[in-house]
Order: sequence, then C-alpha cells, then structure tokens
Amino acid sequence: MKLSKVFSPATENLRQLLFLITESYIFGLQKTIQKRMKKHNFSSGPAILPEEVFDQAAAAVKELEGTGLSILEISHRSDAFQAILAEASTLPKELLGLGDEFEVLFLTGGASSQFYMVPMNLLGSAETAGFVDTGSWSTKAIKETQLFGQVSVLASSGENRFSYIPKGYDIPDELKYLHITSNNTIYGTQFHAMPETNAPIVCDMSSDIFSRPIDPSPFGLIYAGAQKNLGPAGTTMVIVRKDQLGTVDRPIPTMLDYRTHIKKNSAFNTPPVFPIYVSLLTMRWIARNGGVAAMAKHNQAKADLFYNTLDQHDLYIGVAAKEDRSLMNATFNLRDSKLDPHFLEACEKANISTIKGHRSVGGFRASMYNAMPLSSVETLVSVMESFAKKYG
Ligand code: PMP
Repeated sequence: MKLSKVFSPATENLRQLLFLITESYIFGLQKTIQKRMKKHNFSSGPAILPEEVFDQAAAAVKELEGTGLSILEISHRSDAFQAILAEASTLPKELLGLGDEFEVLFLTGGASSQFYMVPMNLLGSAETAGFVDTGSWSTKAIKETQLFGQVSVLASSGENRFSYIPKGYDIPDELKYLHITSNNTIYGTQFHAMPETNAPIVCDMSSDIFSRPIDPSPFGLIYAGAQKNLGPAGTTMVIVRKDQLGTVDRPIPTMLDYRTHIKKNSAFNTPPVFPIYVSLLTMRWIARNGGVAAMAKHNQAKADLFYNTLDQHDLYIGVAAKEDRSLMNATFNLRDSKLDPHFLEACEKANISTIKGHRSVGGFRASMYNAMPLSSVETLVSVMESFAKKYG
C-alpha cells in the first residue's frame, strides 16, 4: 500500500521531516562512534599516522589539492606530482639539517631491497663493510652484503638474544662503510649515540627516522621503509651522500643504480605516487609541529611514562637493557607467561590494538611512533596498573 494513501499530505511531510532528522541523527552518531572507536594502535608497522594526515590523504583520494583529479589517478609526470616530489625531496633535508651533498630518493622494494642495493652501489668486491649486528634486520643486511664484498661483523649482541647495543668494540680504519640499524624494531633496542668512526655510516633508520635530531656528518647513506614514521608501506626513503657513488666497477642494473634515480628525481619509472604523497603530508605535519626536536621531546615523554610504569611493577620484565631501550618499540614480558592471554584481553577491552610481540620474540611490544598521542600511552599504562593490581 502506498504511504500517501495512509497519510494526509501534511502528515506525510511531517513524517518525511522526522525521517530525515532521525537519519541524520543516526548518521552523525555513527560518525561520532566511529571516531570514538578508533583504536590505540601500537603496531610496529604499518603503523599509526597523524590523524590530520589520514584526513588529508583521504581528501586527496577524492581530489588532490584543487587539481580536479584524485591522487590515485594523477600522472607522475604532471606538474602537480612533480611539485610533490620536489617538496618531498627537500623537506627531509630541512628537517634533518642535511646539506646539498645529500640526495633524497623515494624507491620501491622496501627497506629489504636496500640490504643489497647498498653494497651493490657502494662496496667493491675486495672492500670491507663493517657491521654491528643488533638482530634480524642487520643480520639480513649482512647476508646480502656478502654477495658483493667483504663483511666484517665487528660486534653482535646475538649471544644475549639481541637485548642490548654492543659497545667498546674496535672499528678498523680501512672500512668502506660501517652499517648499523639505529633502532631494532623487533628486539626494542636503539642506538642512543652513533659509533665513533672515520668510515661513513650506512644506517637503516626504518623505525626511528624523524623521531629525533641527528648530526648528519657521519652518514654516507640512510634508508628507511616508509611504513613507521613516514607513511603507508610502498616506498623507501634513501638519503645518499653523493661522494659515496661511482666508486665500484661492477655493472649495476639501471633500476638498482642510485644514480639513475638521482638523475630522474625519483621518477625514472612510475614511482609509488600515493605513499610518496602521504610521506610528504607526514613530513609537513612534523615541520608544523616543531620539527624533529619537538618529536624527540614528545617521544621521550611517552617512553618515560611507559618504562616508569613497567619498572614499578614486578609483574613486568623489560626485554632490552635499560640504557639501550628503544623510544619507538618497547618490548616486555609478563613474569608469568600464563597471564599473557589475560593481559591481551585487558588491552583489547581498552581498545588497544597490536600489542603482541614479534613472532620470533613473543611477549609484548608497544610501538610508540611520532604520531602516537600521549593519551594512548596513558591508556596503556592504566591497563598495566590495573592488571598489576589484580595479578601482581
Ligand atoms: N629494517 C628495519 C629496522 C625494519 O623494522 C624493517 C621492517 N619493518 C625492515 C628493515 C624491512 O622493511 P621492509 O618490510 O620495508 O622491507
């Protein structure tokens, strides 16, 4: 039966008005709930990004900054994207205080591809690269480097499950470069000072780039997969000092030669347009919010809150040596692992997501990248406090 037959026209108008009000109320409520339901994301990567970046990236999927085109359909040769690339390559230099001797590239293949691209481009077959082995990522880089040249592992914390950053080892003068992983995402350790060496440092900064100021002078090359402090997975930032290139005599495939990408401003082939754009949005957010010095302060405050709580309760054990604890990835265990599922459940109830440790280590890991607000760490420590009260 048609509604108009049931209701008089006046009642019908009123009914429609009521319907519209109810609909918009439910829609508004849903949106509020969705906002409120957003989880505290402690994932190690792909990881949390600033809320503003999510909003701007979402808007650009519809239309990129007044171009009439989506960021997903724009040509990588367009003026708009060329401007994005230019800004994305200069902003890191401003944020990190890098001079013109450095070039910034956006490549594909993940940080894992840098494990072989670095030695292919930088290390002659008779030359030696030094390594400090702080766990899985440097171990993988060592394996790939052996395909291209000589490797000397100067120190390793492997005998103690990579729970600390080695110190006090000798660094020979004749190294072509020294490779370190500044932050070990899995084990939760971080270099709080760079090793002292005359050799250029090659640094995997995948999980702590832009989290603190650096002195650029010792670095020959820095690489970082985007999916932690920068943007979505899909691009890797490489910062290379130009004097490091052109010293090896092996043939290098065009796509794997850093010089190709320098010459073509990271657009030799189709670059990962969206991850680069989102990385730029995140770098703009860092710049607007006080730069890397402000990020360092904010990260220290979160890490202090977390580790102070951890150390106050006997129920929890930190995995990493205290002086080497990572400000980005805090790893911990419960003294009684039988309580693990209960702790996980308490976290889930508090809307805390992805707090489980890496499958190779177990336990728990709270990743607290730049974009993580202090309020999320407050939520986590309040869960830890109540859990300790109940089970401690
Ligand atoms: N290095 C570090 C420090 C990492 O944490 C990771 C993984 N997240 C990688 C390298 C490998 O990165 P990708 O998955 O981008 O190859």
